[in-house]
Amino acid sequence: MSKIEMKTPLVEMDGDEMTRIIWQIIKDELICPYVDLKTEYFDLGLKHRDETDDQVTIDSAGATKRLGVAVKCATITPNAQRVEEYHLHQMWKSPNGTIRSMLDGTIFRAPIVVKGIEPVVKCWRRPITIARHGYGDVYKNVEYRVPGAGKVELVYTGADGTEIRELVHEFDGPGIAQGVHNLDASISSFAHSCFRYALDTKQDLWFSTKDTISKKYDHRFKDIFAEIYEAEYAQAFEAAGIEYFYTLIDDAVARVMKARGGFIWAVKNYDGDVMSDMISSAFGSLAMMTSVLVSPTGVYEYEAAHGTVQRHYYKHLKGQETSTNSVATIFAWTGALRKRGELDDLPDLVAFAERLEKATVGTIEAGEMTGDLARITTLENPKVLNTEAFVDAIASRL
Ligand code: NAP
Ligand code: MG
Repeated sequence: MSKIEMKTPLVEMDGDEMTRIIWQIIKDELICPYVDLKTEYFDLGLKHRDETDDQVTIDSAGATKRLGVAVKCATITPNAQRVEEYHLHQMWKSPNGTIRSMLDGTIFRAPIVVKGIEPVVKCWRRPITIARHGYGDVYKNVEYRVPGAGKVELVYTGADGTEIRELVHEFDGPGIAQGVHNLDASISSFAHSCFRYALDTKQDLWFSTKDTISKKYDHRFKDIFAEIYEAEYAQAFEAAGIEYFYTLIDDAVARVMKARGGFIWAVKNYDGDVMSDMISSAFGSLAMMTSVLVSPTGVYEYEAAHGTVQRHYYKHLKGQETSTNSVATIFAWTGALRKRGELDDLPDLVAFAERLEKATVGTIEAGEMTGDLARITTLENPKVLNTEAFVDAIASRL
């Protein structure tokens, strides 16, 4: 059998611990036997990041800008304990943070829905994708405790020295105050990424803020989305048969609980933090959650939403058996291969990505799964497989 050809290489970002082990197994057993895999390889394993003073992370993001599609393995974000464990020169920044700021992207997180892993919300039939704005608001706040009586004001000083002053509150005793901000440019990038992703995946786009209460701040988000939609996307949405719809955040929450799924829900930074954990746990498992970073210029980076599964890796190092779920990492690969296939007009590559996803889902639906899913499945007598045997089962189905 001849292998499926690729044109443009994928940017391959290798990572750490248990997910690095899984990475190699997936390539060896599920991809390389069928695809003449072309990648530009970057080793983002912590040791190599340290050896290159983190230049490898910057280079991998640069290559992603150039080539357009990347697939990333989970990586360690160093803390004090990791600095000791890996004898690091520095506590390097989160690779995801570095890549995100270079690509100026929005992260879309979607659950992989399979029969037998039932969402807590019974009417959810299809995935709900959360698009979280990644800049500003309370994540870049300035705040303090107000010590006692006095006034707190918001002061803007223009480049020419003009001042705008707003009273926040006249305190007659101690309290608290905080200043937050956002940028038109960042909100616009967020909007473009959301509209583009909705068109790519042919799903409706919902956007929600609290503009009735926050009449200038949240309202600016609503206006920017509306302006960009009308000017650049309305026709394409109509042609694709999808809808853009704005509503208040509390109304959106109520609607989501009664919806069937199959749409993208775009939210501000804090709402995204809270709602993405709600959505992912209600769908079943972090190990079944995919994540894709989409830049406003149309660059894509696919990964699993979970981390390096450190606890399993330490068991693996001791020679003990592990049952680590590789589904989200497999879907990172299929997402990237499908996108590459679409961009390069390679229908065989797109079809292969679909077959691999089907084989993965089919394996679980046939009752063969890793321990994390076996604990929550509604299927009777699931067969619990170890890390390697689960991939073997997918490979034979494929
Ligand atoms: P984690 O790797 O997501 O794992 C937390 C726990 O969730 C695991 O111990 C395991 O539970 C379960 N789990 C997660 N993924 C699983 C899978 N594929 N199969 C089966 N069980 C799974 O989070 P962490 O342990 O807090 O973080 C470990 C490292 O990952 C950290 O160094 C962190 O910096 C990094 N991290 C990286 C990313 C990224 O690159 N995108 C994201 C998050 C964290 P049990 O132990 O109960 O089986
Ligand atoms: Mg959070």
